[in-house]
Amino acid sequence: MKFNFYCAPINEDYDPVEKLPSFETSNQAHKRRRLLVSALPELGEAGRLLASRLDDCSLKKCRSAGCPVCLRLFRRWWGSTIAEYMARDPDYWFTVSIVPSDVFDVGHLHRFAWKLLKDRLRTQIARSQISQAVILGGIDYNLLHFEDDRSPRWRPHLYFLTGGGGQGLIENAFRKHYPRDEDTPRPVVVTAQRTDDKDLVTTATYTFKARFENRRPCKDKRGNADTESDELALPHQAELAILLDRQGFLGRTIRHGDDRALPALTTR
Ligand SMILES: [Zn+2]
Repeated sequence: MKFNFYCAPINEDYDPVEKLPSFETSNQAHKRRRLLVSALPELGEAGRLLASRLDDCSLKKCRSAGCPVCLRLFRRWWGSTIAEYMARDPDYWFTVSIVPSDVFDVGHLHRFAWKLLKDRLRTQIARSQISQAVILGGIDYNLLHFEDDRSPRWRPHLYFLTGGGGQGLIENAFRKHYPRDEDTPRPVVVTAQRTDDKDLVTTATYTFKARFENRRPCKDKRGNADTESDELALPHQAELAILLDRQGFLGRTIRHGDDRALPALTTR
Protein backbone atom coordinates (compact mmCIF):
# COMPACT_ATOMS: atom_id res chain seq x y z
CA MET A 1 0.00 0.00 0.00
CA LYS A 2 1.20 3.49 -0.79
CA PHE A 3 2.23 5.64 2.12
CA ASN A 4 -0.55 7.97 3.16
CA PHE A 5 0.84 11.09 4.83
CA TYR A 6 -2.69 12.48 5.29
CA CYS A 7 -3.17 10.00 8.14
CA ALA A 8 0.37 10.13 9.56
CA PRO A 9 0.68 11.46 13.11
CA ILE A 10 2.16 14.93 13.58
CA ASN A 11 4.18 15.75 16.69
CA GLU A 12 2.69 19.02 17.89
CA ASP A 13 6.03 20.15 19.34
CA TYR A 14 7.33 20.40 15.76
CA ASP A 15 4.12 21.18 13.89
CA PRO A 16 4.71 24.12 11.49
CA VAL A 17 1.05 25.12 11.95
CA GLU A 18 1.74 25.68 15.67
CA LYS A 19 5.34 26.90 15.47
CA LEU A 20 5.62 29.05 12.34
CA PRO A 21 3.50 32.21 12.12
CA SER A 22 4.31 32.44 8.40
CA PHE A 23 3.16 28.89 7.55
CA GLU A 24 0.37 29.11 4.97
CA THR A 25 -3.12 28.94 6.45
CA SER A 26 -5.75 26.53 5.21
CA ASN A 27 -7.69 29.50 3.79
CA GLN A 28 -4.65 30.70 1.84
CA ALA A 29 -4.11 27.22 0.40
CA HIS A 30 -7.77 26.96 -0.64
CA LYS A 31 -7.63 30.38 -2.26
CA ARG A 32 -4.50 29.46 -4.17
CA ARG A 33 -6.12 26.25 -5.36
CA ARG A 34 -9.13 28.18 -6.68
CA LEU A 35 -6.83 30.54 -8.58
CA LEU A 36 -4.94 27.61 -10.11
CA VAL A 37 -8.18 25.94 -11.17
CA SER A 38 -9.04 29.15 -13.03
CA ALA A 39 -5.61 29.53 -14.67
CA LEU A 40 -4.67 25.93 -15.54
CA PRO A 41 -7.09 25.41 -18.47
CA GLU A 42 -5.16 28.10 -20.41
CA LEU A 43 -2.25 25.65 -20.58
CA GLY A 44 -3.75 22.99 -22.84
CA GLU A 45 -4.81 19.43 -22.14
CA ALA A 46 -2.43 18.83 -19.20
CA GLY A 47 -3.69 22.01 -17.57
CA ARG A 48 -7.35 21.11 -18.10
CA LEU A 49 -6.85 17.66 -16.59
CA LEU A 50 -5.06 19.01 -13.53
CA ALA A 51 -7.67 21.77 -13.09
CA SER A 52 -10.46 19.20 -12.93
CA ARG A 53 -8.52 17.03 -10.48
CA LEU A 54 -7.84 20.02 -8.20
CA ASP A 55 -11.45 21.10 -8.51
CA ASP A 56 -12.53 17.69 -7.15
CA CYS A 57 -10.22 17.93 -4.11
CA SER A 58 -12.46 18.16 -1.07
CA LEU A 59 -12.91 15.88 1.94
CA LYS A 60 -11.52 13.15 -0.29
CA LYS A 61 -8.16 14.65 -1.15
CA CYS A 62 -6.91 14.78 -4.76
CA ARG A 63 -3.33 13.83 -3.68
CA SER A 64 -1.74 15.91 -6.41
CA ALA A 65 1.63 17.47 -5.52
CA GLY A 66 0.45 20.43 -7.62
CA CYS A 67 -2.52 21.01 -5.28
CA PRO A 68 -1.83 23.78 -2.72
CA VAL A 69 -4.18 22.21 -0.14
CA CYS A 70 -2.56 18.77 -0.39
CA LEU A 71 0.92 20.35 -0.53
CA ARG A 72 0.21 22.15 2.75
CA LEU A 73 -0.71 18.85 4.40
CA PHE A 74 2.41 17.17 3.01
CA ARG A 75 4.63 20.03 4.25
CA ARG A 76 3.11 19.75 7.70
CA TRP A 77 4.04 16.06 7.89
CA TRP A 78 7.44 16.49 6.20
CA GLY A 79 8.51 19.55 8.24
CA SER A 80 7.45 18.11 11.60
CA THR A 81 8.96 14.67 10.87
CA ILE A 82 12.35 16.07 9.90
CA ALA A 83 12.47 18.67 12.68
CA GLU A 84 11.64 16.01 15.27
CA TYR A 85 14.38 13.78 13.86
CA MET A 86 16.96 16.59 13.84
CA ALA A 87 16.06 17.56 17.42
CA ARG A 88 17.28 14.18 18.69
CA ASP A 89 20.81 15.25 17.83
CA PRO A 90 20.57 18.89 16.81
CA ASP A 91 24.28 19.68 16.46
CA TYR A 92 26.16 18.97 13.24
CA TRP A 93 23.37 19.66 10.78
CA PHE A 94 24.16 21.75 7.73
CA THR A 95 21.91 23.35 5.13
CA VAL A 96 23.10 22.89 1.56
CA SER A 97 21.92 24.88 -1.44
CA ILE A 98 22.95 23.62 -4.89
CA VAL A 99 22.12 25.59 -8.01
CA PRO A 100 22.78 23.66 -11.25
CA SER A 101 23.43 25.87 -14.27
CA ASP A 102 20.49 24.44 -16.30
CA VAL A 103 17.65 26.89 -16.92
CA PHE A 104 14.43 26.50 -18.92
CA ASP A 105 12.38 28.93 -20.99
CA VAL A 106 8.90 29.79 -19.76
CA GLY A 107 6.55 27.23 -21.34
CA HIS A 108 9.31 24.58 -21.36
CA LEU A 109 9.62 23.59 -17.72
CA HIS A 110 8.39 20.12 -18.69
CA ARG A 111 11.88 19.56 -20.14
CA PHE A 112 13.41 19.57 -16.66
CA ALA A 113 14.76 16.03 -16.11
CA TRP A 114 14.50 15.86 -12.33
CA LYS A 115 15.11 12.11 -12.18
CA LEU A 116 18.45 12.62 -13.89
CA LEU A 117 19.36 15.45 -11.51
CA LYS A 118 18.52 13.22 -8.53
CA ASP A 119 20.43 10.23 -9.97
CA ARG A 120 23.51 12.40 -10.45
CA LEU A 121 23.23 13.76 -6.93
CA ARG A 122 22.94 10.22 -5.56
CA THR A 123 26.12 9.21 -7.40
CA GLN A 124 27.97 12.32 -6.25
CA ILE A 125 27.05 11.56 -2.64
CA ALA A 126 27.96 7.85 -2.97
CA ARG A 127 31.42 8.71 -4.29
CA SER A 128 32.13 11.37 -1.68
CA GLN A 129 33.32 11.37 1.92
CA ILE A 130 29.77 12.07 3.10
CA SER A 131 28.36 8.88 1.59
CA GLN A 132 27.09 7.74 5.02
CA ALA A 133 25.35 11.00 5.94
CA VAL A 134 21.60 11.34 6.31
CA ILE A 135 20.41 13.85 3.71
CA LEU A 136 16.87 15.26 3.54
CA GLY A 137 15.41 17.98 1.38
CA GLY A 138 13.78 18.78 -1.89
CA ILE A 139 13.78 20.49 -5.24
CA ASP A 140 12.84 24.15 -5.35
CA TYR A 141 11.94 26.40 -8.29
CA ASN A 142 12.51 30.07 -9.07
CA LEU A 143 11.88 32.14 -12.14
CA LEU A 144 15.20 33.84 -12.78
CA HIS A 145 15.19 37.37 -14.27
CA PHE A 146 18.24 38.94 -15.85
CA GLU A 147 19.84 42.36 -15.82
CA ASP A 148 20.02 42.43 -19.61
CA ASP A 149 16.99 42.04 -21.87
CA ARG A 150 16.88 38.22 -21.87
CA SER A 151 13.49 36.68 -21.05
CA PRO A 152 13.12 35.16 -17.56
CA ARG A 153 13.89 31.46 -17.24
CA TRP A 154 13.01 28.68 -14.81
CA ARG A 155 15.75 27.67 -12.45
CA PRO A 156 15.24 24.38 -10.58
CA HIS A 157 17.64 23.94 -7.66
CA LEU A 158 18.24 21.77 -4.62
CA TYR A 159 17.97 22.59 -0.94
CA PHE A 160 18.65 19.97 1.68
CA LEU A 161 19.86 19.23 5.19
CA THR A 162 22.91 17.08 5.82
CA GLY A 163 23.46 15.37 9.17
CA GLY A 164 27.17 15.22 9.93
CA GLY A 165 30.10 15.43 7.56
CA GLY A 166 31.33 18.96 8.31
CA GLN A 167 31.31 22.03 6.11
CA GLY A 168 34.53 21.30 4.20
CA LEU A 169 33.63 17.70 3.40
CA ILE A 170 30.19 18.71 2.15
CA GLU A 171 31.64 21.46 -0.06
CA ASN A 172 34.20 19.01 -1.44
CA ALA A 173 31.46 16.53 -2.30
CA PHE A 174 29.63 18.98 -4.57
CA ARG A 175 31.78 21.95 -5.65
CA LYS A 176 33.49 20.15 -8.52
CA HIS A 177 30.18 19.06 -10.02
CA TYR A 178 28.40 22.44 -10.05
CA PRO A 179 30.56 25.11 -11.68
CA ARG A 180 30.06 28.85 -11.33
CA ASP A 181 29.00 30.89 -14.29
CA GLU A 182 27.88 34.46 -14.85
CA ASP A 183 24.25 33.69 -13.94
CA THR A 184 25.21 31.25 -11.15
CA PRO A 185 27.61 33.10 -8.85
CA ARG A 186 27.13 30.77 -5.84
CA PRO A 187 26.32 27.26 -7.08
CA VAL A 188 27.08 25.50 -3.77
CA VAL A 189 26.45 27.12 -0.38
CA VAL A 190 26.87 25.16 2.88
CA THR A 191 25.77 26.72 6.17
CA ALA A 192 25.83 25.38 9.73
CA GLN A 193 22.26 24.93 10.94
CA ARG A 194 21.07 26.74 14.05
CA THR A 195 19.67 24.30 16.50
CA ASP A 196 16.83 25.63 18.61
CA ASP A 197 13.47 23.94 18.00
CA LYS A 198 11.92 26.85 16.10
CA ASP A 199 14.93 27.04 13.76
CA LEU A 200 14.67 23.31 13.14
CA VAL A 201 11.00 23.54 12.18
CA THR A 202 11.68 26.59 9.97
CA THR A 203 14.51 24.94 8.07
CA ALA A 204 12.87 21.51 7.82
CA THR A 205 9.73 23.10 6.36
CA TYR A 206 11.77 25.35 4.07
CA THR A 207 13.29 22.29 2.33
CA PHE A 208 9.92 21.78 0.63
CA LYS A 209 8.52 25.15 -0.29
CA ALA A 210 4.96 26.07 -1.22
CA ARG A 211 5.54 29.67 -2.32
CA PHE A 212 7.60 30.10 -5.46
CA GLU A 213 9.28 33.31 -6.47
CA ASN A 214 10.72 35.53 -9.14
CA ARG A 215 14.37 36.30 -8.47
CA ARG A 216 15.43 39.68 -9.83
CA PRO A 217 18.89 41.21 -9.80
CA CYS A 218 19.20 44.50 -7.91
CA LYS A 219 21.76 46.54 -5.99
CA ASP A 220 21.87 46.68 -2.21
CA LYS A 221 22.32 49.96 -0.25
CA ARG A 222 26.05 49.87 -0.81
CA GLY A 223 25.66 49.30 -4.55
CA ASN A 224 26.64 45.62 -4.44
CA ALA A 225 24.89 43.02 -6.57
CA ASP A 226 21.95 41.46 -4.74
CA THR A 227 18.63 39.80 -5.58
CA GLU A 228 15.06 40.62 -4.65
CA SER A 229 12.09 38.31 -4.92
CA ASP A 230 8.34 38.40 -5.23
CA GLU A 231 5.68 35.79 -5.83
CA LEU A 232 5.26 34.16 -9.25
CA ALA A 233 2.51 35.43 -11.53
CA LEU A 234 -0.47 33.07 -11.73
CA PRO A 235 0.24 31.67 -15.26
CA HIS A 236 3.75 30.73 -14.06
CA GLN A 237 2.34 29.13 -10.90
CA ALA A 238 0.07 27.08 -13.17
CA GLU A 239 2.95 25.91 -15.38
CA LEU A 240 4.88 24.88 -12.28
CA ALA A 241 1.83 23.09 -10.81
CA ILE A 242 1.75 20.78 -13.85
CA LEU A 243 5.38 19.81 -13.26
CA LEU A 244 4.87 19.36 -9.50
CA ASP A 245 1.89 17.11 -10.22
CA ARG A 246 3.98 14.89 -12.52
CA GLN A 247 6.81 14.80 -10.01
CA GLY A 248 4.65 13.79 -7.06
CA PHE A 249 5.46 14.59 -3.43
CA LEU A 250 8.10 11.94 -2.90
CA GLY A 251 9.54 12.53 -6.39
CA ARG A 252 10.33 16.09 -5.35
CA THR A 253 12.13 15.03 -2.17
CA ILE A 254 15.85 14.36 -1.77
CA ARG A 255 16.43 11.48 0.64
CA HIS A 256 19.65 9.64 1.31
CA GLY A 257 20.95 7.56 4.17
CA ASP A 258 19.99 4.74 6.40
CA ASP A 259 18.40 5.09 9.82
CA ARG A 260 15.61 2.87 11.06
CA ALA A 261 14.54 5.66 13.40
CA LEU A 262 13.41 7.61 10.34
CA PRO A 263 11.03 5.59 8.13
CA ALA A 264 10.51 8.74 6.00
CA LEU A 265 13.91 7.97 4.40
CA THR A 266 12.53 4.91 2.63
CA THR A 267 8.79 5.57 2.42
CA ARG A 268 7.33 4.87 -1.02
ZN1 LIG B 1 -5.67 18.30 -3.27
